Amino acid sequence: MRRTYRRCEALVDDLDVSASSDVRGLCRRVAEQRGRPIHLEAVPLSPEGPYGLWISTARTDYIFFEERTSPFHQEHIIAHELGHMLCRHGHAAAPWDADSLHTMLPALDPGVVGQVLHRRHYADAEEQEAEIFASLLLQRLSRPVSGSVGNAPSEAAEVLERLDRSLCRRPADPTS
Ligand SMILES: [Zn+2]
Repeated sequence: MRRTYRRCEALVDDLDVSASSDVRGLCRRVAEQRGRPIHLEAVPLSPEGPYGLWISTARTDYIFFEERTSPFHQEHIIAHELGHMLCRHGHAAAPWDADSLHTMLPALDPGVVGQVLHRRHYADAEEQEAEIFASLLLQRLSRPVSGSVGNAPSEAAEVLERLDRSLCRRPADPTS
């Protein structure tokens, strides 16, 4: 867990977060640096599915996030999906098929669904890493620049404590 935290911290350090005031602005900068556009799109996602999706196609990264939730939650979802993207997650498991993607993302252009090659089911460790990344990133974004004093010991503890909140997955439906 400590190693994962340090890895995420290094990734966030590389992002020069202080130059952006929000996650959307940061995504624009990351896209410029990578030379790959990142499309952010609020969509009504299926209630059974995740709150967010990162989809990588040949030329573009798409981050879809639930439109029926608060702006604060949306920022967190985007940061979480950005974590999956920058940590290069999703190389181990089975890919989504076009049918299940269409069920989760009814609003998505079928042409885009057809191009989906890299979206995978994530391992728990990857979910955890994306969540640590998102927490660190949002902490940096909301921190006043002048007050940036580096790594207080409590910062790690606070992030680690919040890890049981998994944003990629919705809480299990108690009726099913
Ligand atoms: Zn996730």
